[in-house]
Parts: sequence; structure tokens; C-alpha cells
Amino acid sequence: EELSFIMIKPDGVQRGLISDIIARFERKGYKLVGIKVLVPTQALAAKHYAEHDGKPFFPKLVNFLSSGPVVAMVWEGKSVVKYGRTMIGATNPLASSPGTIRGDYGIDTGRNIIHGSDSVEALAAKHYAEHDGKPFF
Ligand code: ATP
Ligand code: ADP
Ligand code: MG
Repeated sequence: EELSFIMIKPDGVQRGLISDIIARFERKGYKLVGIKVLVPTQALAAKHYAEHDGKPFFPKLVNFLSSGPVVAMVWEGKSVVKYGRTMIGATNPLASSPGTIRGDYGIDTGRNIIHGSDSVEALAAKHYAEHDGKPFF
């Protein structure tokens, strides 16, 4: 089955949205196969967002992601990468439809509550290959 890395960012945790977000994925029919609460180091945050290194917002993005606890999860199920992003909404919460996580709870692109893998390959490269196929452990 397909896997997706989904992470509740520090703003989502701080605002008390953990249970709501987990419930949305559960009710859709996806299966939670890994979960961990951690405060990302600056280095881990930079690695996570390496594709954005050099962009003007990169330093703020890295600082923000490492500013507090995040909930890192792996969810499993049919088309969970693509449909997970549909559930999350657009990068800019003001461009996200109501009914999506960002559309329902956010306003600022820099504080958009949640991250979702944008491809199966990205997930494999970022979170599996370097951990012997086991996320987080
Ligand atoms: P994520 O990767 O976190 O799931 P995303 O894929 O929707 O979000 P990306 O383009 O990967 O968006 O950007 C990563 C994050 O960087 C965004 O979630 C947003 O918080 C921040 N970001 C992206 N573009 C900008 C920007 N122009 N200004 C400020 N922050 C930005
Ligand atoms: P997504 O989170 O939808 O996969 P990206 O991977 O393109 O979007 O971006 C990762 C994160 O970088 C976004 O969630 C967002 O926090 C931030 N980001 C991306 N683009 C912008 C932007 N133009 N302005 C502010 N933040 C951005
Ligand atoms: Mg992204």
C-alpha cells in the first residue's frame, strides 16, 4: 500500500489541532502506521525543506519548523499521497477550499499548519531510505 509522510507543524500543535487532523485521516479510511512528537533541529528542518534552499523564505521556514514540537506521522492507504494533499489544501490557506485543513484553519502561507508528501518518491527518499525502511525508529 502507498505511504505518505504527514507532519503537523508547530502552529498546528500549538493551536490544538492534533486530534482533529488525525480524525480526518482516520475517518477517510487511512491507517496510521507511525507517529512521533519531536522538536526538529534546524538541521533536520533544513533537510526536510532542502528543495527550497536558496529561496527568500527558506531561513524563516527553517526557523519556524524548528520552533516547537511537531507531530510526524506516516499514513497508509490508496492514493494517500495525492489525496492527502487534497485533504490538506493549497500552500496558501487563502487559496484553499473550505473543507480542507488549511482552508478551514489557516490564513498565512508561512503558518499553514501541516505538511504532506508531494510524491511517493519524496517520501521514500526523505524518510525511508535513510532509516532502513522504518520511519522514525
Ligand atoms: P509543505 O511542503 O509544508 O507541505 P507546500 O508543499 O504546500 O507545503 P512548499 O512550496 O513546499 O509548500 O513550501 C514549503 C513551505 O514553505 C510552505 O508550506 C510555506 O509554509 C512556506 N513557504 C512556501 N512558499 C513561501 C513563500 N513564498 N513565502 C513564505 N513561506 C513560504
Ligand atoms: P506544500 O506544503 O503544499 O507541499 P510546498 O512543498 O511547495 O507546498 O511548500 C512547503 C512549504 O513551504 C509550504 O507548506 C509553506 O509552508 C512554505 N511555502 C511554500 N511556498 C510558500 C510561499 N510562497 N510563501 C510562504 N511559504 C511558502
Ligand atoms: Mg511542499
